[in-house]
Amino acid sequence: MKHLVRDIFRTEGYVFATKAREIAASHGHKNPALLASNENPFPPSSHALEAASRALSTVHRYPDERNEALREALTLHYGSHRFVTGVGMDGIIETIIRVLISPGDSVAVSQPTFSFYGIAARAQGAEVVPVQREADFSVDPDTFIRAAHGAKLAFLCSPNNPTGNATPASVVGEIAEGIDGLLFLDNAYVEFSDKDYLPLMKNYENILIGRTFSKAYALAGLRVGYAFVPAWLEPYYRRAETPFALNRVSSAAAAAALADRNHTDAIISHVTEWRERMTAGCHLPAFPSSANFILIDVAPMTGEKAVEALAARGVIVRSCSSFPGLEDHYIRVSIGNAWENEMFLTEVNSL
Ligand SMILES: *Cc1c(COP(=O)(O)O)cnc(C)c1O
Repeated sequence: MKHLVRDIFRTEGYVFATKAREIAASHGHKNPALLASNENPFPPSSHALEAASRALSTVHRYPDERNEALREALTLHYGSHRFVTGVGMDGIIETIIRVLISPGDSVAVSQPTFSFYGIAARAQGAEVVPVQREADFSVDPDTFIRAAHGAKLAFLCSPNNPTGNATPASVVGEIAEGIDGLLFLDNAYVEFSDKDYLPLMKNYENILIGRTFSKAYALAGLRVGYAFVPAWLEPYYRRAETPFALNRVSSAAAAAALADRNHTDAIISHVTEWRERMTAGCHLPAFPSSANFILIDVAPMTGEKAVEALAARGVIVRSCSSFPGLEDHYIRVSIGNAWENEMFLTEVNSL
């Protein structure tokens, strides 16, 4: 019956980093350093856990379809904006593509970057137009605008996964000004940077800012994303989204996590402090990062080889070979717990 499956799903999919964990296990590392997925090494806020357990007793009911409690928490935190929510930012990416894209439409994607934009766009029948970043991974607005001409939707990630650099808000504004379509600005890591893109929402009606509770808020396992959207888009997003997608437990935990600023601040301080120590302490070239991970050039090794060598030493990092638009000699290393970071530095410097 496999002939029933669409071609697109026979040839590609999201690449998960599982092989490294198998290598570590085969070398007897029962508790390896987990630095491959940009997760938060800290447990979630205790307030978030309490809110989640309270919500558990009400799960015989469907969730509130508008997620009012979470949206109120977001308004309290960020002021008055239009918010939508989703099952992770990935869920928001899929829904936005569903709202805008018919088969054959083009979607521009600044790369190297997170692979899911292209995967989700192609799954909806889009023509993906890659827009290569400069050699230093900065974004040239004129190049972007030219390539995105005629695209209904364009993706820009800042701070960018896997390169770590953030694009100045002025450049993002220039791009929004110059393109015809909607600019999806992915801010999955923005809490770890010094950038503030929210003022752009006032000046451009073609910017959407996607956010997640998976990184700075330590709730990756609960799958909560949200976005700041322009007013015209909100009703259409609601029509296109899966009914009751975000569950009660996740939604309650996210609202409580947002309110626990001390917890998030402690995480951000840990990450920024270790980001500096790891960038300076690694003997291989490490790119300056505004996120909770660092891109490292392992040439003349391939990323794959470096991942295998580190896994054998009990350190799990991510090869960047599955990121479109990046040569195959980079690894991406998340900032973890102190012991994980120290172990990484010791092992990478003795490769
Ligand atoms: C982790 C990540 C996401 C996805 O976040 P979820 O909310 O967990 O779906 C989106 N964009 C980028 C660039 C990411 O790295």
